[in-house]
Amino acid sequence: MLKRNPLSVKKLLITIDGPAGAGKSTVSRALADRLGYRYVDTGALYRGVAYIASHRGIAPQDDAGLSGLLEGLTLNFVPGDSGQRLTANGEDITDAIRTPEISMLASAVSARAAVRAFLLRIQRELGQQKAAVFEGRDMGTVVFPEADVKFYLNASTQVRAQRRFAEVKAKSDVSIEAIERDMQRRDLQDSSRALAPLKAAPDAVMIDSTELTIDQVVERILAHVRAVLEPA
Ligand code: C5P
Repeated sequence: MLKRNPLSVKKLLITIDGPAGAGKSTVSRALADRLGYRYVDTGALYRGVAYIASHRGIAPQDDAGLSGLLEGLTLNFVPGDSGQRLTANGEDITDAIRTPEISMLASAVSARAAVRAFLLRIQRELGQQKAAVFEGRDMGTVVFPEADVKFYLNASTQVRAQRRFAEVKAKSDVSIEAIERDMQRRDLQDSSRALAPLKAAPDAVMIDSTELTIDQVVERILAHVRAVLEPA
């Protein structure tokens, strides 16, 4: 969906990396909307692999099992009534992948080389046409080192846990302490793994959203994007 927008004349590839709960998804979606760009949530792809693995009883450390699974797996983003949906071999798994168990499993499978190589191919293919905002952990460092504009979004652990709690409290009785604990575990796992660890690209613009609203973050990002689109 391309909106008439002078900012969308040039097609940029924008990356946003950062830890869980830093506001990446909301900000990336809003940014893509403002620019008339596609939004690509790469975490959903890792969650998709984790979900299918758990359904088939394949452990995250079982590399042979994972490789077999990936051979027959087709992941696709397809347009839906309220935003895009993710399908795995045609099955809509959009809602099923949003559980705390799948979050932890996604983090575990994302450390495996076969999974990263499989998803790297899919992500680069999705990025070919540019005019997109890619959100993840290694977008600016590994998947798109040549991206036009890179951001690294962070916030204090407490604020990230509070935001995640506010999102899930209506549909689950998980405590804020449990959310914070899981988040810390996942961040540690994601930033200490050998392959494509969570980290800022050297040329990423760093934004700490601890004391900023979503709108303020989006405005800051847009200011940088405008400077690239319309250099002084
Ligand atoms: O962003 P989200 O929380 O949905 O990502 C789930 C997990 O997928 C992360 O904790 C991380 O382990 C993995 N991931 C990754 N690289 C990406 C995106 C997500 O390793 N680009």
